[in-house]
Amino acid sequence: MAKGPIQFKTEEELELMRSSGKLLAQAHGEVASLVKEGVTPRQLDQRAEEFIRDNGALASFKGYKVGSSVFPYSLCLSLNDVVVHGFATDVPLKSGDIISVDCGVYYNGFHTDSAYTHAVGEVAPEVAELLRETKASLYLGIEQAVSGNRVGDISYAIQNHVSRKGYGVVRELVGHGVGRSLHEKPDVPNFGKRGSGPMLQTGMVLAIEPMINLGKKDVMQDKDGWTIRTRDRKPSAHFEHTVVVRKDKAEILTSFEHIEKAVQ
Ligand code: MG
Ligand code: MG
Repeated sequence: MAKGPIQFKTEEELELMRSSGKLLAQAHGEVASLVKEGVTPRQLDQRAEEFIRDNGALASFKGYKVGSSVFPYSLCLSLNDVVVHGFATDVPLKSGDIISVDCGVYYNGFHTDSAYTHAVGEVAPEVAELLRETKASLYLGIEQAVSGNRVGDISYAIQNHVSRKGYGVVRELVGHGVGRSLHEKPDVPNFGKRGSGPMLQTGMVLAIEPMINLGKKDVMQDKDGWTIRTRDRKPSAHFEHTVVVRKDKAEILTSFEHIEKAVQ
């Protein structure tokens, strides 16, 4: 969990974050164009690392430390029942898989953070629906990211949407502020009460990231110290945008347009 006060960004800082978000959106497009049967997660990771480096930026996750553990890859690649923080394996993707690509970019002094879960080939209809509804919940959360609302309004909007489908909302992992540090205050849970939590104000930058399970909410960690998967081994979806809280409508810094062009 992030420490310290909420970091409000000036318009000049937001301009720098906008360039970081643009680069991240492009990196996601590069990766998305490779996602298909037979490709390995390691190949996706290598492409992202190359693209980010060639553009004069750093991958935020590579070398990220929690205690004495160091994350070894540029992307978090989370397959099927893996919720988040999966490793880039050499096991080729197969039709019916889903893979969450979570990427962070450090550019111009600022991090941006975004995730998208891809379907590989033909996935089961209930899994395709999980992806659609998790993405929809992200945008419902973003609609609430306006000044005068509270963090709980975002949380409630996400939870309310996905609970109707009977999905499990992960409790142990949450969205967060983002800026000069990858994880800043406030925490942005995907569950909660309307009107609760810190007040949202213009200049706050949030990574909103529903992590939603087809089955129950419970998760466990693998022995590698990173990989988080569902306890019931059912699939999990993850979508994330970095957004600026504004007066009437949040500004999304990490568009999915490059991804959606690539996977058409
Ligand atoms: Mg992320
Ligand atoms: Mg994040």
